[in-house]
Amino acid sequence: MKRFDYTGLPMRVVFGAGSIQRLSAEVERLGAKRALVLSTPGRSESVAEVARSLGSKLAGIYAKAVMHVPVEVAADARRVALELGADCCIAVGGGSTTGLGKAIALTSGLPIIAVPTTYSGSEMTTILGMTEGGRKSTLRDPKVLPKTVLYDPELTLGLPSALSAASGMNAIAHCVEALYAADGNPINSLQAEEGIRALASALPRVMKAPRDVDARSDALYGAWLAGVSFATTEMGLHHKLCHVLGGTFGLPHAETHSIVLPHAARYNRDAAPEAMARIARALGVDDAPQGLYDLEVALELEMRLAGIGMPKEGLEKAARIATESPYPNPSEVGYAGVLSLLNHAYEGRRPVG
Ligand code: NAD
Repeated sequence: MKRFDYTGLPMRVVFGAGSIQRLSAEVERLGAKRALVLSTPGRSESVAEVARSLGSKLAGIYAKAVMHVPVEVAADARRVALELGADCCIAVGGGSTTGLGKAIALTSGLPIIAVPTTYSGSEMTTILGMTEGGRKSTLRDPKVLPKTVLYDPELTLGLPSALSAASGMNAIAHCVEALYAADGNPINSLQAEEGIRALASALPRVMKAPRDVDARSDALYGAWLAGVSFATTEMGLHHKLCHVLGGTFGLPHAETHSIVLPHAARYNRDAAPEAMARIARALGVDDAPQGLYDLEVALELEMRLAGIGMPKEGLEKAARIATESPYPNPSEVGYAGVLSLLNHAYEGRRPVG
């Protein structure tokens, strides 16, 4: 066994259908009395119901979370938290809402309770991505880690099928990169492989019956594992590309991950044989990149960057930014190879060869 370091992150998890009913008790457990509830604008009504359950512990609702945490939105949310005298924040939503909570925690130290309603896995990590002037940058800081994460699959029943599938592939991408990260370790690998297995089995069932609580529960379990395995390992080329495509070209986060993943896996296939074997085993296939591609086809996902608004003339710029300051990666990151990867993803070609 190779040498490794392992850092466990301090985190309380409450998991299960109906666990949202324990939210008020979890606020008390933190010693907090005034919770600011965060959400995206589109979710404010269903989040209001969650907020009402807090009774006198509700300080207010801030429903302006948007993707990739623009610095201006973070500043506004911090101001509102201060004005309302909030002593904790509850992020009810996907990675955008969790990210806003993390941005508040970064400067205020307010404890965060995350209630994830997608499979992004952000709630498990010390990573915060923010955008300023069209560029996304990420930092890692223990201050942004939620104190408590409450996973209730019932809150995910209304997540549209297409978004469920794409978000699930975002989680699988975390597992894939954790499996070949140079700073990976046996515990992370177990979690990542099990995460892929859980998600690959649950997502087709979610597509067939979006309100199947058991399928939703399995998918959320996979997302939790994905977040944990990703939390303490380095990100590679796949995440770098998605950060560039999301931050610079405004492409939707989960869909971008889903489209790029089989191609990033193909790029790294020969340099990371052990990871590829584990991915293939979790998917029940022989070839990991093609297995990922086939799963996405079966989930009826968009397979082309062209189909989610990527301008063809932007591919060279994306390749340039991604290779200027690359993340560590099993295969060497070079401009020509990355541009070719992006061209394949642009057209949604099968990752063969
Ligand atoms: P999101 O949070 O932007 O949500 C996508 C859309 O789905 C939103 O309109 C939201 O309102 C809606 N939605 C969320 N839950 C719903 C539900 N249960 N039912 C119906 N609609 C629902 O999307 P995301 O993919 O979860 O998060 C993307 C963001 O998270 C990006 O900014 C990304 O960078 C970040 N992220 C960060 C990390 C990290 O570790 N820091 C990890 C993953 C993602």
